[in-house]
Amino acid sequence: MAKVVDAARITAPDGAVWRNCPACGRLAALAPDAVQCGGCTTKTRADSARLLPADAFTDVDRDDIYEAGCTFAAALRDITHHEIGDPGCWDLWGTCPEELGRLHAALDQMVSAVKTSRALLTAVERRVRRTAGKTSGR
Ligand SMILES: [Zn+2]
Repeated sequence: MAKVVDAARITAPDGAVWRNCPACGRLAALAPDAVQCGGCTTKTRADSARLLPADAFTDVDRDDIYEAGCTFAAALRDITHHEIGDPGCWDLWGTCPEELGRLHAALDQMVSAVKTSRALLTAVERRVRRTAGKTSGR
């Protein structure tokens, strides 16, 4: 007889098992080597960025952060302009297949923008950590 846990394994990422996140306690599909859920990982990324030393950033880093933010903001603006009616509401006007297509396209656009922005931020953080490591070693 199938158990609820079997159904969970079918929908979970590769090798993931539903268990409570050690950091926040929420039930999540966690890979065997995962130490926390996606929400906690996101918080950790933001928190670790805030801990970087401000004097290790250059003007190039600031420009890249601006570019990353603009990439994200441009996607938000474009999607909002074309697809959002009332604030916080999808502008549903087409047939179901059209709406599925529109929503998939908007989500793909946002995923692409997030990916590009994250790549820029990761490059900035790597440079800053390298710079901070050189200056702290003196
Ligand atoms: Zn968590």
